[in-house]
Amino acid sequence: MFDRNGNDNSTYNRDNIAEIAKVSETVAGFIQKEYDRQKNNVELIASENYCSEAVLAACGSCLSWKYAEGYPGKPVTRHSGNKGRYYGGTHYVDELEEYCCDKWREVFHTDYHVNVQPHSGSQANFSAYAAVLEPGDTILTMNLDNGGHLTHGSAVNFSGKYYDVHFYDVDDNGFINMEDVEKKAKELQPKLILAGASAYSRIIDFARFAEIAKSVDAYFMVDMAHIAGLVAAGVHPSPFGYADIITTTTHKTLRGPRGGMIFCREELAKKFDSAVFPFAQGGPLEHIIAGKAVCAEEALRPEFKAYGEQVVKNCAAFADEFLKLGYHIVTGGTDNHVFLIDLSEEPFSGKDLQVACDEAGITLNKNCVPNEKRSPFQTSGVRVGTAPMTTRGFVEEDFREVAHRIDDVVKKLRAEKEAEKDA
Ligand SMILES: *Cc1c(COP(=O)(O)O)cnc(C)c1O
Repeated sequence: MFDRNGNDNSTYNRDNIAEIAKVSETVAGFIQKEYDRQKNNVELIASENYCSEAVLAACGSCLSWKYAEGYPGKPVTRHSGNKGRYYGGTHYVDELEEYCCDKWREVFHTDYHVNVQPHSGSQANFSAYAAVLEPGDTILTMNLDNGGHLTHGSAVNFSGKYYDVHFYDVDDNGFINMEDVEKKAKELQPKLILAGASAYSRIIDFARFAEIAKSVDAYFMVDMAHIAGLVAAGVHPSPFGYADIITTTTHKTLRGPRGGMIFCREELAKKFDSAVFPFAQGGPLEHIIAGKAVCAEEALRPEFKAYGEQVVKNCAAFADEFLKLGYHIVTGGTDNHVFLIDLSEEPFSGKDLQVACDEAGITLNKNCVPNEKRSPFQTSGVRVGTAPMTTRGFVEEDFREVAHRIDDVVKKLRAEKEAEKDA
């Protein structure tokens, strides 16, 4: 994959592009341009990463066309319930899928049931809700503006439409307000309480959440999509043992293929398996499941622990440099791989900075901040993460330098806005 200077020490992508060009120069051309962009840019999108050639090769393997609706086990008969497959020839993908599940239990030191079939994080959440909730049931979550995900009850998502969604607040500094979680849980008696986020830079108190959920007899679900790699590396507290249900993606800090997974307490296994198939999905993507299995093996290696440690160290240095430069960071710092720069007081928006950084070869994304005043299309923040560039070998000093490059972009934007005002 790409190193820190944008060199690719593998021919994997180039070979693939050459193969595609034999059929379509046009498609190969699009991929070539994206490949060059990725190689040459500083990638700060907190939800992205680079996976290994081994993961890519598994995802591009002959498993791609194998149908295997159902779950590992004997072919389905009238009496086998939801165990088993609806197709023949599944012997080897059965072994693969079971191996994949075992490896993930090993990664997270858990005996929870695992389902590796969800096609994405959103699909995993869809199935998780469907397993334990009826439409109209009450859920308590964190909203998008404060760092939650679309699938955590946003009005434009199925979750906001099908469930009675209530949000707990963050305090004035952007930290999850646990008193508010407790108060709302007591008031609303939700069926499910959800913790986990897409843009939250602090450790979440899983023990406290679990205690509150227990006190109101609610399911406690953790969506660890962003932090799963840090949990696997042992640099973030684990939700296992606390949560009844844990969903994740495999392509963020875990560095695997694009996909989702669900873990749940053993007694919920049947409900969860049927909520994935046949309720939400048809045939599983066995090639992606192979990629997930390779990803799990990578996550079990000592190098992955070192990687997770470096991601967190890099993020702390990156945030520290912004603070030194006088920026405001939501919650004042970070415990994980991500943080939000608050631009509420700036004459330009998060979108303006995203566009200007793009031009400067730095990829990041606009993001809402708590108490957002601008529209979601403009926003008053940008989100940055250290997972992808750490994969490429960046260390603390590199991130401090990137902070200065972004500061230069900001200075230009401020000057442009001043000039517009004077004009
Ligand atoms: C990224 C993310 C998801 C969804 O993942 P997709 O694979 O994009 O559907 C779900 N929950 C959280 C918290 C996320 O950050």
